[in-house]
Amino acid sequence: MRMTPPAGGSCEERAEALLRLSPLAAPAITLLVAGTLYAGIGVCLRLFQSGYQSVAILSGLLLHAYVIVVVHDGAHRAITRTRADSLLMNVGAGLVLLPFYAEPFRRYHLIHHGHTNEPVDPLWPPLKSFPLGMGIGNHEAHHQHPGFSWVSMAFGLARRPKDTDPLRTVWWMLRCPDYRHYSASCD
Ligand SMILES: [Zn+2]
Repeated sequence: MRMTPPAGGSCEERAEALLRLSPLAAPAITLLVAGTLYAGIGVCLRLFQSGYQSVAILSGLLLHAYVIVVVHDGAHRAITRTRADSLLMNVGAGLVLLPFYAEPFRRYHLIHHGHTNEPVDPLWPPLKSFPLGMGIGNHEAHHQHPGFSWVSMAFGLARRPKDTDPLRTVWWMLRCPDYRHYSASCD
């Protein structure tokens, strides 16, 4: 039976509905992008060995994106929506020399989702004055739909209005009650 995406909902919900029309779409896009990022990290390694040491910054960014796409989405079963995500997550972490990273990451990341900004939240900041857990884009939407693919999150983020003024951003993070994820850590 062919599924029909809903007409309403947020950008992320519509994108996710479209993406899941084929069970192969999210895994295929994820593996393709992860492979490209992995190749990029390899190129950075070659350049680093050739003396271009500043490329380590780019390599770190590529690694971060790779971990989000493979390990984070795998932890949420957002790649295939099956147990196969556990294998993808662990193999993906092993390929970047973090073989024992994925399982504890999943455990503590899911606790973070279930108890955000509570004392048992692994990302609960000890000083309660600085927001943590900001490594994932479209963070608020991700907490609403943790099982959505990074593809849907990226599409939704691209469609949302954004304010890149750094001063206004800091002001809103500190003062706006809508930013409960952050304001809860200020009490
Ligand atoms: Zn998450």
